[in-house]
Amino acid sequence: MARADVAVVGAGPIGLAVAWRCAARGLRVTVHDPAPGSGASAVAAGMLAPVAEAYFGERELTGLLVESAARWPAFAAELTEASGVELGYRTEGTLLVGLTADDLAEARRLWAYQQEIGLPVTPLRPSQLRDREPALAPRVRGGALAATDHQVDPRLLVPALRTAAERAGAVLVPGPVGTLSDLDAAVTVVAAGCGAAALTGLPIRPVKGQVLRLRAPGGAAPGFRHVIRGYADGEQVYLVPRSGGEVVVGATVEERRDTDVSAGAVLRLLRAAVDLVPELAEYDLVETAAGLRPGTPDNAPILGELPGRPGVLVAAGHHRHGIVLTPVTADLIADLVTTGRPDPLLAPFRPDRFTSPPGTGATGAPAASGSAASAVAGSGSAASGAAVPGWAASGAVAPRAAAPRAAAPRAAAPRAVASGAAAGGAGGDAAAVAGGDDVTVRTGEEDPWN
Ligand SMILES: Cc1cc2nc3c(=O)[nH]c(=O)nc-3n(C[C@H](O)[C@H](O)[C@H](O)COP(=O)(O)OP(=O)(O)OC[C@H]3O[C@@H](n4cnc5c(N)ncnc54)[C@H](O)[C@@H]3O)c2cc1C
Repeated sequence: MARADVAVVGAGPIGLAVAWRCAARGLRVTVHDPAPGSGASAVAAGMLAPVAEAYFGERELTGLLVESAARWPAFAAELTEASGVELGYRTEGTLLVGLTADDLAEARRLWAYQQEIGLPVTPLRPSQLRDREPALAPRVRGGALAATDHQVDPRLLVPALRTAAERAGAVLVPGPVGTLSDLDAAVTVVAAGCGAAALTGLPIRPVKGQVLRLRAPGGAAPGFRHVIRGYADGEQVYLVPRSGGEVVVGATVEERRDTDVSAGAVLRLLRAAVDLVPELAEYDLVETAAGLRPGTPDNAPILGELPGRPGVLVAAGHHRHGIVLTPVTADLIADLVTTGRPDPLLAPFRPDRFTSPPGTGATGAPAASGSAASAVAGSGSAASGAAVPGWAASGAVAPRAAAPRAAAPRAAAPRAVASGAAAGGAGGDAAAVAGGDDVTVRTGEEDPWN
């Protein structure tokens, strides 16, 4: 193969989606990974939950989650068409529940915040809850509906993305990337999840999550259709039903880098799950697993040009949200590759929010505010006026057969937050994350659900 236009490091959902989008625009793309799909996505639940995951102090992140969730319906349809793979994309919505009065009080604080920023959370009386899901325990004190929080099966998503990327012409290269200088491409996109830290020096750390998979007896579908997220005697748990009979029960949040499964975590997850949906006690326990989320200091992804490294883009640090953020990340990074102009949506997530000022070392000088990354494409790079030597400046690469894609639909989900987010400061609150040696380390407003 001739020199690649784009080398993508990492074949998880993010890397494969970026590769698909770039290849579909006619670029020569290689994707480098010794074990495609073996990262966090291999255990992820697949909740697409910008509402339930809207936390205090994360307005910009919430705006991006809302934006990406709105792109999911068209993205899923397009991906299924391109790959021939059904993704298990389901739109029944999410029920948010509290088992005890204390649990409900805790949950209501968050729902009030979510409503305040314009997200659709509809409180439900216990009888309304049980009308929707009779499988809920009679003890459940109350809840709410997040109708626009959907789900997809990551174990179907990743193979679909791989097929679509390969059909569009991307070439998978089986092997790890030890250093970025090993790659010979006009643009490199680092989408290696937790592996991005060693390649870029950016502060991406593993955040362990233990998760269980249950299966309804006799090959039946689970006895509930909504995703259920709840507080049960102070424990937080989510239950994600799949049509094939599987229920994903998750997850711990631990500042650890091992992937061992502990008896205590299994016990706590199962107890909370059965407290909310008693019939789960009759299900088979078919899998226990742990994965490592690529976490960042402010819980938000790192998207854009790596300071001091022309031609190196980062799409990593998606932490608890890499599945929901797949469409928007792929679109914005492919746009950046081909036009050289960072979309304004990228502004709060630029890598330079974590790098030192010039002269202090670290990963290099931060880009000037609003500066455009250089582009693979001719037209876009001319407009950006920010050609990078050896990349756009060479004029060596431009999209061939650029496949015009329909603009992503923008009306399917509330955008109140996105506009509110734009008014806030860059980077969101940097949540200090404490170390910990046991299950479920909770810090500030950190989400212990996902
Ligand atoms: C328990 C759990 C539950 C989750 N639930 C959800 C959820 O409900 N919704 C949601 O949106 N997100 C969820 N997530 C988060 C989500 O899984 C991640 O954010 C997402 O997988 C990140 O995608 P990625 O492609 O960046 O990284 P990964 O999925 O981790 O993939 C990274 C890939 O890079 C490769 N790689 C690493 N280093 C190198 C290297 N040096 N060279 C070449 N290749 C390399 C790896 O082999 C891997 O294939 C969950 C995560 C966990 C652990």
